[in-house]
Amino acid sequence: MAIRLVLIGPPGVGKGTQSKLLSELTGARPLSSGLIFRAEIEADTELGQLAKDYIDHGHLVPNGVTIQMMFKRLRQEETRQKGFILDGFPRTVRQAEALDEELDKEQVTLDGVISLQAPLDVIVHRLTGRLGCTKCGEIYHSVNHPPHREGLCDKCDGFLVVRGDDTPEAIRERLVVFEEATAPVLDYYAATGRLMAIDAGRESDEVGAELKQRLNLTCA
Ligand SMILES: [Zn+2]
Repeated sequence: MAIRLVLIGPPGVGKGTQSKLLSELTGARPLSSGLIFRAEIEADTELGQLAKDYIDHGHLVPNGVTIQMMFKRLRQEETRQKGFILDGFPRTVRQAEALDEELDKEQVTLDGVISLQAPLDVIVHRLTGRLGCTKCGEIYHSVNHPPHREGLCDKCDGFLVVRGDDTPEAIRERLVVFEEATAPVLDYYAATGRLMAIDAGRESDEVGAELKQRLNLTCA
C-alpha cells in the first residue's frame, strides 16, 4: 500500500537522511522541492524558466509556480502507485490547502505530517562544520564526514571552502526565517490533528527507529 507523507524541518535537521530511509522502507517516492526546482530549471521547461527568474532575483518562487511543479510529480503514475514523501513542500498554508484539495480529488489522504525538530544549537553545530567543493559542489563536514586529504575534494581534487552563508550567524538567521515561515503550516496541520512532532536532535538511526515505530512501518 502506498504511503503519503510530508516531512517538515529546518535545514540541517536531517530531512534528507530520513526521507531516504522512509523511501527505502516503504518504496514511496521522495519528492524534494529543491531537487525538483533544479531539475525543471536544468530541463529548461516553462515552469523552470519562471522559477529561475524569481530565484535569480532573490525572490521566493510564488505559490502558483511551486504548486504546478509539485503537482506534475504527484500526478505521475509512479507517484500514484508508490506514494510519496514530500520535503520542502508545502511551505505555505496556501500550498498545504492546495495539496489537500488535490489529494481529495484523488480520494486519498496524507498518512502523516512529520515535523522534525532539534534545538537551535544542535543544528548550528551540525551546519557550521560544512565544507563545500568549489569545483563539483560535493559537501563534506569537518567532523562527521571529513575529506581524506585536508582541504581537498575526494572526488575531483577541487578546493574545499566554508560557504559564506554557512557562518554561525548566517545559519541562525536562516533558521529564524524558516521558523517564522513554517509556523503557520505546522499550525494548519496541528489544527486538523495530523502533525507528528519528532525529536531530531538525536543520532539519525534513533530518529529513524522512532519514525518507523510511530508510522507502524513493520516492513524491513
Ligand atoms: Zn569536488
